[in-house]
Amino acid sequence: MHPAIPQLVELQRVDQVIASLRAGLETLPKRLKQAETKLNGAKAAVAAAKEAHTQTLTQRKKLELDVEQWKERAKKYRAQSSSVKTNEAYKALQQEISHAEAEASKAEDRVLEQMMAVEEIEQRAKHVEADLREAERAVTADKKQIEAQFAEQKKRLDASVAERAEIETKVPDELRDLYTRISRKHPGAAMAEARGEQCQSCGMRVLPHTLQLLQSEADEEVFRCEGCGRILYSLEPIPHLPKETAEGAAQS
Ligand SMILES: [Zn+2]
Repeated sequence: MHPAIPQLVELQRVDQVIASLRAGLETLPKRLKQAETKLNGAKAAVAAAKEAHTQTLTQRKKLELDVEQWKERAKKYRAQSSSVKTNEAYKALQQEISHAEAEASKAEDRVLEQMMAVEEIEQRAKHVEADLREAERAVTADKKQIEAQFAEQKKRLDASVAERAEIETKVPDELRDLYTRISRKHPGAAMAEARGEQCQSCGMRVLPHTLQLLQSEADEEVFRCEGCGRILYSLEPIPHLPKETAEGAAQS
């Protein structure tokens, strides 16, 4: 086979490494976003707890006002009761007074319940705030790890790109152009191994005669698979046949 073919095989290996590193690097924004999403959940929990806290405080104020109003009403009726003329009117007022006092007492109970609810919510707020701080620590660590990993991959990518350029200099232009053209159709897979009389990429038969030439150092042809068009190479030990023998095989 053509003497530059091992370089093309090497080029393909590096191209595969480059493609995989690039694919990994492209996941960076997504992975950072996933880390952020974790944080958003904890932030939302804190916001919800704060909102609930405000609401219970408002509710407590309203209930306290209820207590005031019922007490105020009882006081007013009591003042009126000293100036009523009839027994019935007096009785009716007494009823109103006890009703208002009972309502004031119920409202006071509700205020107490509400105070307990406020305490509970304050406890919950403390928990979710601690959770948020923990999530922030975890996300910061995550991001640091992700960024370190990516810096490492970027370094490897730069090294592979440099290695690729170095290999390319050893390949004749027309062969490099052929490789590039086939790579457009088969990214990272322009080369196909010929083994067992078959193209290992598409399964198309490779003639024994072609296989023999591929294994010959003396032959400098470039063979392409008739099925998939990839550039064929052989990894079989090159038999080091003298040139005449290779030609003889070609004629048989
Ligand atoms: Zn093929």
